Amino acid sequence: MKPDIKGFNKTELSCWLSDHGMRSFRCAQILRWIYVKHAAAFADMTDLTKTDRQVLSDQFAFSIPLTRKIETSADGSRKYLFELEDGLCIETVLIPEKTHYTLCMSTQVGCAMGCRFCMTAQSGLIRNLTQGEILSQVLGVLPDITDEKRLSNIVLMGMGEPLANYDAVVRAITLLTDTDCGLGFSNRRVTLSTSGLVSRFDELGQDTRINLAVSLNASDNPTRSRLMPINQTYPLEALIDACARYPLAPRNKITFEYILIRGINDSDEDARRLAKLLRPVKAKINLIPFNEHPASEFRRPDESRIQKFQEILHQKNYTAVIRHSKGQDISAACGQLSAKNRQPQ
Ligand code: SAH
Ligand code: SF4
Repeated sequence: MKPDIKGFNKTELSCWLSDHGMRSFRCAQILRWIYVKHAAAFADMTDLTKTDRQVLSDQFAFSIPLTRKIETSADGSRKYLFELEDGLCIETVLIPEKTHYTLCMSTQVGCAMGCRFCMTAQSGLIRNLTQGEILSQVLGVLPDITDEKRLSNIVLMGMGEPLANYDAVVRAITLLTDTDCGLGFSNRRVTLSTSGLVSRFDELGQDTRINLAVSLNASDNPTRSRLMPINQTYPLEALIDACARYPLAPRNKITFEYILIRGINDSDEDARRLAKLLRPVKAKINLIPFNEHPASEFRRPDESRIQKFQEILHQKNYTAVIRHSKGQDISAACGQLSAKNRQPQ
């Protein structure tokens, strides 16, 4: 099988081209055709010589993501089901905001982390996505954006634990944020969400400048270990330490996501403990009322409990926003993506 051109980074492509007798400036030209001009084939790359185009199409695959299904939610969110080369499927969600679009991308098929509340956990890890498969999710939705709003924000918050697929994810981020010949997203508008794979935090801080979000979901170790098994390996002390030393741009903060689950982590005491826990970190908090789904017995708290929880955090001087997930009616809310469609149908 020919390698996918979207699996190459700048250095690798440039080496390949010089090994095959092509001029070095072709590298940026080719990458711009793919990521800036969204070419669909090597034949479209009209400023390359015919021979070069032929060599490239003989040597590389130019895979275009195959859309199997698009579901649109009442709030305008669109859930894409993309089929991969091997027939497995992943989900990507395009979310319209007031001024722009946000894309919620997957980094793995399934996930190994086993969080109790999460639909993706049900299938376990099936496999990692490649650099090309991660980038293809953006390229797959771009042609559908025809209104005046731009796709400007990316969240790595779909299926999978991004830091468990570190190399492919960081390679994809490098091309996502390359303003010369990549997709040109601003680092400030790309956010990676992790369940707390602490061993990768320092590296991520060195390798990228994007925003970090941490799925926290509890303020004490017993509750967090129960909800998120990764807490047994990296308990809260280790997680908070890693967050406190994470390099942040001035005025930037780490986002802590906290799913509110009735009777599990939603008491006044939980809110006060959360406020204390996050003191060492430059933190803001997203409160996400649990999205109920058939695979879980958990329930969301009622509205007054959610408000009270937020109020306590406000009193302690935190920015705490209640985020009602978009696309709930089509199971497109973050964490609602499942691998149920993973086999070809
Ligand atoms: N694996 C990474 C990123 C993907 S999970 C992580 O855990 O951060 C995406 C987000 O969805 C996480 O913040 C998770 O806490 C949240 N989530 C999962 N299931 C949910 C549910 N049923 N209701 C609300 N949020 C959920
Ligand atoms: Fe994996 Fe994130 Fe779901 Fe946990 S919440 S199982 S880490 S996708």
